[in-house]
Amino acid sequence: MSELIKQHLIDPELCIRCYTCEEMCPEGAIAHNDLNVVVEAAKCNYCMACISPCPTGSIDNWRVVRAPYPVAEQLAWAELPAQAELGNGAAQGADDTAIEALDDAIAALLAEAHKGAGGRSKAPASASKPSVNLFTLGAPLEATVQGNYRLTAPDADSDVRHIILGLGGARFPVLEGQSIGIIPPGTDANGKPHLPRLYSVSSPRDGERPNTNNLSLTVKREPQGVCSNYICDLKKGDKVQLTGPFGATFLMPEDRQAKLIMVCTGTGSAPFRAFTMRRQRTMPGANGSMLLFFGARTPGSLPYFGPLTKVPDSFLAKHFAFSRVGGQPKTYVQDRLREAHAVIAPLLNDGSTHIYVCGLKQMEGGVENAFADIARGAGLNWETIRDGMRETGRYHVETY
Ligand code: FAD
Repeated sequence: MSELIKQHLIDPELCIRCYTCEEMCPEGAIAHNDLNVVVEAAKCNYCMACISPCPTGSIDNWRVVRAPYPVAEQLAWAELPAQAELGNGAAQGADDTAIEALDDAIAALLAEAHKGAGGRSKAPASASKPSVNLFTLGAPLEATVQGNYRLTAPDADSDVRHIILGLGGARFPVLEGQSIGIIPPGTDANGKPHLPRLYSVSSPRDGERPNTNNLSLTVKREPQGVCSNYICDLKKGDKVQLTGPFGATFLMPEDRQAKLIMVCTGTGSAPFRAFTMRRQRTMPGANGSMLLFFGARTPGSLPYFGPLTKVPDSFLAKHFAFSRVGGQPKTYVQDRLREAHAVIAPLLNDGSTHIYVCGLKQMEGGVENAFADIARGAGLNWETIRDGMRETGRYHVETY
């Protein structure tokens, strides 16, 4: 009888096809085709280098098996198989002991890899059910550019753009908080077609204007970046290849009692624009339930600064943090969170509070520390609160 192993698998329903895990794996154990991203059991040495960079937690899936699922089989999956029964008659006791030992070993490695904010998350209980992976690398959707507008001031040091993509008659349903892939044309240094890059949708599910079959993105031009320059240079009428939609956890609750604390930097504001517009359209009277902590270098480099200032504070309480305004101390989102401790502390203990963090990977640590300080000041334990919120689909981090 072959030995039991705990096989590392990726959940194709949660995976957003950002290919970060594939880039991070030092063993070359992660591969993809037009449909899925998968782990090759024979090459995976459980180093866990792929675990914490995964924005969705789709990477953190395991099955105890005697014969690992082959790569070819995984590449065709639409969903993960359930844990198979391993019933082995007389040897069941030995199997149970072996399974327990495997569980403990992997749990210890994962606990180390998950230190900090990242990790498995769940969708809020009241979130709408998302559609995922309708269009793939092999069969993308062609969208048409309807608009490309600069969001940052002409003299700002960053070029962030609001891009509107028309979907024609295609069915490409997206929920607020989901992302889409854009395939830049051309090939990479190895002559292979470029992989898609991920962009959060910044419009609500029914379009930029109600009932228009389009969506918007908020894209920052990266120096020498392949896809961001391609997108930022797009002209009205240009055709673009889309994959997705992706993401099944960073979604908003459809519950009017829910209170949202949203923390972002730069283009991390994209999903929060979508959340805000969704609430404005469906729950215009839901006052006092959305807080936004938004960081940028200057007001001119903060995407949607003008439109945001027009949203009443009673509907969306805005806390801007600027780190490069002449004559003023450098302020970051975590400073604004700490300043607002009197408002935030009671929300941490409130079962209807949802926390969302989106933007630069570097912001995660500072934001975590701020929540930990606020909790401590109120006699609470942040890690217990955070883990409980994650379990109930109320704590979400998407950083890149
Ligand atoms: P790449 O060509 O992939 O280059 C990567 C980096 O290397 C860039 O920073 C680039 O400046 C640098 N680089 C490239 N070539 C060179 C070189 N020769 N010398 C020095 N440096 C170089 N981005 C957004 O703008 N908006 C979003 O809403 C958004 N949402 C995202 C959501 C998710 C879930 C994820 C995972 C990512 C998201 N991103 C978003 C990031 C986005 O997917 C891309 O990573 C980003 O646009 C950069 O892609 P690129 O092709 O332009 O850069």
